[in-house]
This record gives sequence, structure tokens and C-alpha cells, in this order.
Amino acid sequence: MSSFNVAKFGGTSVANFEAMSRCAAIIESNPNTKLVVSSACSGVTNLLVELANGVQDQTRRSEVLTKLAEIHQAVLNQLDNAAQAAQAASEVSAILDTVASLAEAASIQSSHKLTDHLVACGELMSTHLLTQLMVEHGIQAVRFDIRDVLRTDSNFGKAEPLLDDISKLAQQNLIPLCQDHVVITQGFIGSDEQGNTTTLGRGGSDYSAALIAEAVEASGLEIWTDVPGIYTTDPRIAAKASPIPEISFSEASEMANFGAKILHPSTLLPALRHDIPVFVGSSKQPEKGGTWIRHQVESSPLFRALALRCNQTMVTLRSAQMFHAYGFLAKVFEILAKHKVSVDLITTSEISVSLTLDQTDTSGGAPQLPEAARLELEELCTVEVEHNLCLVALIGNNMSESKGYAKQVFGTLEDFNLRMICYGASPHNLCFLVHESVSKQAIQKLHTELFEG
Ligand code: ADP
Ligand code: ASP
Ligand code: MG
Repeated sequence: MSSFNVAKFGGTSVANFEAMSRCAAIIESNPNTKLVVSSACSGVTNLLVELANGVQDQTRRSEVLTKLAEIHQAVLNQLDNAAQAAQAASEVSAILDTVASLAEAASIQSSHKLTDHLVACGELMSTHLLTQLMVEHGIQAVRFDIRDVLRTDSNFGKAEPLLDDISKLAQQNLIPLCQDHVVITQGFIGSDEQGNTTTLGRGGSDYSAALIAEAVEASGLEIWTDVPGIYTTDPRIAAKASPIPEISFSEASEMANFGAKILHPSTLLPALRHDIPVFVGSSKQPEKGGTWIRHQVESSPLFRALALRCNQTMVTLRSAQMFHAYGFLAKVFEILAKHKVSVDLITTSEISVSLTLDQTDTSGGAPQLPEAARLELEELCTVEVEHNLCLVALIGNNMSESKGYAKQVFGTLEDFNLRMICYGASPHNLCFLVHESVSKQAIQKLHTELFEG
């Protein structure tokens, strides 16, 4: 294991000059920080996704392009070293030209491949600015294009990392550079074997940072964001949510998987494989401390946290043929697999099965059941698709072996219509769907009952 520390800064942490200056102070405060992984400046990826989805209206397209230019120009304007600022400005301007031409192409016909090429531009721009700002702080910073290391498959929008390749490329291209420099690189993006740009899905910079930490065998990974650590639930939803000083890998993974936006769902896999402790803190208030995610923790409470994941698509399949028959579910899953539909949760009754579809890719929105899959399923059973649902998950420890708490949970939510309750399959969680319009209320009520006592 090297002594390298990898620090990842999210969109709000690199939103503007002041925010980036705080990042510089955090990097300077830890001499082991040799690798910095940055998101795009706050709001930029959303604007790029809009363009990638195809904006036909030229006025709107120019508005978005102007907004993108302004966000980056505002940082460039505050850099001191005129010559180097001009250099960064010309790099950013070339990327903005690429954005403009890709946006035009997307307005005619968008594709997942084009989307990845376009949305990657956010991280490509922010890292030019961050590197320059670090240099002005006297840090030996150098910008590195992570597409030369982060090899993925060609599943655009939700690419899978190729771990052996990443490890080899990091040994060759990245580790030598870290000896004398602080390397500033992009989260979220990678490239396939043909050299096409790929992305790991929205929020993927956390995952990138963990993959890079694994590849360089880092001794630590810091995730700097806009809240001082992982809370008992999203503090934007429950004002009395409280920070968790220490949490296990399995609990934090459950939280991320069940939608706690603070971490991309796959972030902890590489850290867990290499036993790299992860710290989550606020770049705005680093003095407040944060959360340590570790293998061994001192306490394992029954209730740890509540997570909310919206944009759920629920598919209900009904058929009398299912009753006491064998092979029905096998046929259903064969059709879903054929159409590359990934299933998340599942509950069954004697004549029906309900399932939710796995999260969507970089282009955003609720996952859709492909029309061809629906038509094939309809030959077998009736198919009902529902949207506007959110998944609420209660995360904790030894839940499947504990008595009585289900009464407390369901009693608290007696006025809510709960769907697809999944209870007992995992020792770490209980989860269910509720309508989007009452989802925050459900979290608030449960938080008051279970965490504020
Ligand atoms: P970044 O851009 O730094 O990656 P994100 O917006 O992706 O930041 O994630 C941080 C946000 O995650 C917080 O502002 C908060 O609203 C949300 N969040 C959701 N669940 C939690 C939780 N359990 N603890 C803390 N923050 C949470
Ligand atoms: N910029 C990307 C996004 O907004 C990746 C990230 O910030 O993690 O989804
Ligand atoms: Mg994030």
C-alpha cells in the first residue's frame, strides 16, 4: 500500500473561485494528498445533459452555451497569473467549441455515445481551472486526463470499469507522475478500448475516486462535498438529521445503494476490496469533521439511517398461469434479460409479481421498460407500469433477527399507502415504495420516530 491519499471534490466544492480556493487549502493541509479527483463545476453536468438530450430551439441552445461559458469565465477572471490564465482560457474555450458542435449534432440525433462525449466536457473544463488555481497556491499541480487510465467497457452512460487495465495503466501513467506532483484529474469519465469517452453514470465521480484509490493502492480516500459527513438521513429532508461519526462499509454501501445521494452506489466496492478507509466531509466546513467509513466500527445500532431514492419505475405482471405453475418467473426473467432490463427489487404473490427497474444512466429520468420487452411480456401476462414512486429504505444492523420494530415502523406510517414492502431478505434493511408526493413526509415521520427520540 502506498501512502497516497486521494481527495475527491464534488460539484459544489468546485463551483467557483472561492470554493476552489477552499479545496486548495484542504489539499495543502495533507502532504499525502497526491491525487485530486474533481467533478464538473456545480450545475454544469445538468446543462450538458440538457444539450445531450437534444435542444432543437437555437435560442435555448445559445442560452445554455452562454451560461456554461460564464461559469468557467468567472473563475478564469479571478486567476492572478495572466499568461497561465490565458493558457487555461484557451483550453476551456476549445472544449466549449466541442460542446457547441456536439450540442448541434445532438439536436439532430442524440445517442448514448454522443451524450458521454458531451457530458465529459464538464470535468475536462473544471480540472483546467482547478489545476491553474492550485499552481497559483504554490502547489506542484499537474492536470492529467484520466481517460488514459480509467478504461471501461463501451456501455455508454453507465460504463463498467475494467479493473486489470486500470491497474496496469495507473502503474504506467499515473503513479510516476505522483512522485513529484499533485495530480488533478477528472471524476465521472473514462474511455473504452477504442478511445471513445465513456461515463460511469450520474454522481460517478465518487466511484472514479475510489477506483483510482484502488489502482494506486492508496492509504486513504477523502470525499469532500457540501455536508459535514453522512447523516442519519438527507439533512435537506429532515432538519434534525444528525451526522454519523463512524459507519461500517456494509451500512454505508446499503445507504448508497438505496439512494443516499451523498455517495454513488458503487463507491465503496473498490475501497472495500482494498480496505481503504473513506472519509466524508464538507469542503465548506472542513473543521467540522465528518464520517469515517471503516471495516470495524464501535457501534452497530439497530437503526442507522433512512435513504430515499425517487424516480422509481414499478412493473406489475399478473397471470393466473402463475398459480401453482413452474417456469413462469423463469420466462419473465428470460424476456427481461433478453432486453437488457436490470431488475432491482422484487415481490411476489400467487398470481402476480412486482418489480422495480434498476437506476437509469447518465441521460437521467426514470428507467423505462423497453416497448419490445413489454410486448413480449404481454404474450405471457398483463403488464402494468407505474411511475412517480420513491423507495424508502431503513438501514441498520441485525434487523432480520430483531423483534417488534416492524410494528413501530408500520405504525408510524399507518396513514401512508406502502407498496412492495421488502422485509427480512437483508439483515441490513427494510424498504418499500411510496408515492413521490408523500415520500419526504414519510422520511420525516420515520426520522422523528426512530432517530429523534
Ligand atoms: P457532490 O456534488 O459533492 O458529489 P452530492 O449533491 O452528490 O454532492 O451529494 C451531497 C448531498 O447528498 C447533500 O447535499 C445531501 O443533500 C445529500 N444526501 C442524501 N442523503 C444524505 C445523507 N444521509 N447524509 C448526508 N447527505 C445526504
Ligand atoms: N458531474 C457528474 C454529475 O453531476 C459526476 C459527479 O459530479 O459525480 O453527475
Ligand atoms: Mg455526488
